[in-house]
Amino acid sequence: MNITKTDTTYDTLHKEFKERIDKLKKLPQMDRKHSIEEIIEENGFSRRDFMKWAGAITAMLSLPSTFTPLMAEAVKVADRLPIIWLHMAECTGCTESLLRSANPSIDSLIFNHVSLEYQETLMTASGWQAEENLENAIEKYKGRYILMVEGGIPSADTEHYLTIGGHGHTGKESAHHASEHAAAIFAIGTCSAFGGVQAAAPNPSNAVALSEITSKPVINVPGCPPSEKNIVGTLMHYLLYGTLPALDVYNRPKWAYRLRIHDLCERRGHFDAGEFVEQFGDEGAKDGFCLYKVGCKGPYTFNNCSKQKFNQGTSWPVQAGFGCIGCSEPNFWDTMGTVNEPLSNKLYHTTFGGLGADATADRIGLSLLTATAVGIAAHAAISAYKNPKE
Ligand code: SF4
Ligand code: SF4
Repeated sequence: MNITKTDTTYDTLHKEFKERIDKLKKLPQMDRKHSIEEIIEENGFSRRDFMKWAGAITAMLSLPSTFTPLMAEAVKVADRLPIIWLHMAECTGCTESLLRSANPSIDSLIFNHVSLEYQETLMTASGWQAEENLENAIEKYKGRYILMVEGGIPSADTEHYLTIGGHGHTGKESAHHASEHAAAIFAIGTCSAFGGVQAAAPNPSNAVALSEITSKPVINVPGCPPSEKNIVGTLMHYLLYGTLPALDVYNRPKWAYRLRIHDLCERRGHFDAGEFVEQFGDEGAKDGFCLYKVGCKGPYTFNNCSKQKFNQGTSWPVQAGFGCIGCSEPNFWDTMGTVNEPLSNKLYHTTFGGLGADATADRIGLSLLTATAVGIAAHAAISAYKNPKE
């Protein structure tokens, strides 16, 4: 199926999705007592909530609303896609944020509904039994499963810093082995996508991104943690299309990561007006002014946080009054400066050493700094006008 061909219309796309769903329906389904509709209802959501969710995911994937019923149908067959989820060097925050909510969202319920064949945080098996389960899952679903990996991967002469299980396989060996037989590979979270905190200088375990230990294509879903919507959206995109989504230069799905935080931010009007929080707790903070001067890295960060938000869509860091820390960008621990200070005139370098998106990022950074300088100057002028005696 080639969805990039120019004569593809929504009608043909709809037909192709339908065919794929029908094909998936024929695959063996998980032996469940309850359907996804029943699970959703048992957790206090109505059919209307479910269709609203399906509509939101449809819109997020830039599909017209006529695809909403198809999206709802696709969710029902999501349990036909086996998933193997590996943990590398990480804090498990990505798993926790998605699955351990006291009030599960529809996203997390759907993630519970899928055929999660191996997930160390959730499964009861341990030791030899766990290793056997992993091998069995890889063997049984060879070429069919989705591999999701959370965490950076120690490499080089410190590869053994991550050694798992009775056979003493390193994390790198396990991730490489599982990658070889996967139908699709998702790096979940910034650790897996770019190395994350493990790879921050001086990187004592030589941690690397998942994409550096396999030659197969990896879809990066960064964030620390990524929003549940971006994880489930990536899954639903693969389920419907059966192919890789359009990716940016850092292999992030464009439907989620094509715009800067700054472009979608609700405080953007204050930035443009030169109205900044000067320090936490001041009048500007109470008035919801822009957080650039207290360290917001939204101008340099590509993600959809302000639209999709976290905790069932209730809020996101900037709405809560704290600047973006740039967590979905490569090497943000080393390149985004001090958390509570603006980047000023610093340009940051990425794992691509100045190539590819760096050119874009540098250009954006430079033009933005000009805008910021203008904004700050305007704010200073307004302040002086309003307070001539100060
Ligand atoms: S990306 Fe962040 S939340 Fe996820 S495992 Fe790494 S440190 Fe934890
Ligand atoms: S600098 Fe941060 S708070 Fe200000 S508009 Fe941009 S993203 Fe929003």
